[in-house]
Amino acid sequence: MIDALRELGVASRADVARHTGLSRTTISGLVAEMRDEGLVVDRPGPEGDAPASGAGRPPTPIGLSSRAGAALGIDFGKRHLAVVVADLSHTLLAEDQREMEEGYDSAAGIDAAIELVEDVLDRAGIPIRRLLGVGVGLPGPVHGPSGQVGSSRILPGWEGLQVAREMEDRLGVPVRVDNDANLGALAELFWGAGEGAADLVYLKVATGIGAGLIFQGRLFHGAGGTAGEIGHLTIDEHGPMCRCGNRGCLETFAAGDALVELLRSSLGHELTTEEIVDQAIEGDAACRRAIADAGRHLGHAVGAICNLINPSRVVVGGSIGQAGDLLLGEMREAVRRRAVLSAAQDVEIVAGVLGERAEVLGAVALVLGDAEAAPVPEQAVLS
Ligand SMILES: [Zn+2]
Repeated sequence: MIDALRELGVASRADVARHTGLSRTTISGLVAEMRDEGLVVDRPGPEGDAPASGAGRPPTPIGLSSRAGAALGIDFGKRHLAVVVADLSHTLLAEDQREMEEGYDSAAGIDAAIELVEDVLDRAGIPIRRLLGVGVGLPGPVHGPSGQVGSSRILPGWEGLQVAREMEDRLGVPVRVDNDANLGALAELFWGAGEGAADLVYLKVATGIGAGLIFQGRLFHGAGGTAGEIGHLTIDEHGPMCRCGNRGCLETFAAGDALVELLRSSLGHELTTEEIVDQAIEGDAACRRAIADAGRHLGHAVGAICNLINPSRVVVGGSIGQAGDLLLGEMREAVRRRAVLSAAQDVEIVAGVLGERAEVLGAVALVLGDAEAAPVPEQAVLS
């Protein structure tokens, strides 16, 4: 019952019954018991289901209270650090972020994170013992079985580190680590443009390009956690050298550095990725061309993914994803041409809506969506 509510967030008794396979009578009894203990509370919908419900009126939806526990997310970005705490009905209780110096090392990062975690928990009034788990996002590959951070261009000093173990030692709470694209996928599924899509691909298009794959509502990691490395799909085997050692990967055509380089040679001066996106939106022809070409290349790769896994939705985030339809229009067109007709017809390509908060929200969702792996600890229920 707790697991079901943790996964559903806010739900009607009928939803919980469907999800658990228990009868409505059993659910009503359990809800009454948990309400007495303060673990379950009413969560009226946006229409504000009136408390004085008349005869025949469906009861107000319910959710777990913060007495049942809370989940915390930490996102280590290139130049920032963000922390969010949510209760088990998926309501955000507090969040904060701070700037970091580019290229900060793991010791500085972890120290700053612990400080920010203490601040945020304090503000939310949640004692650390009530946390069921902590999700951590990193802008690089994380090897599943060992939890080691792989080679990351964005946080180079972190390679080989076991961040989950280090953070567990410091916080005394179970910690799970995942990469930014996987967390973006979870966040958009829980709170954003992916809501209601069981088979979803999230594309993070920024300094690098990565994908998070959701199958049947769950993240797919593959054997070692490398699933979703769409940035290294070959677009042109005679193309430019890629940082991975191959030639003509998608990143060499559509990632931030490729666009910066392309425009430097044509404009004669350097723009940042963010400036390229802004100027494209303002109507600059060269920047529009660069974004549109990136969209076409991304569409080729997404077309292949559509043939392979037939998703119902592709959500595009990351700093270049902010270009919206300038990028997505070309992507849709290329997918239409590249994917088999039925796969192209099944997929909707939309912009992410969570922006820079996608990763930290996904880190929280990593805990909320993982009811089996982290059961509610006794002390969280009692205190
Ligand atoms: Zn590559």
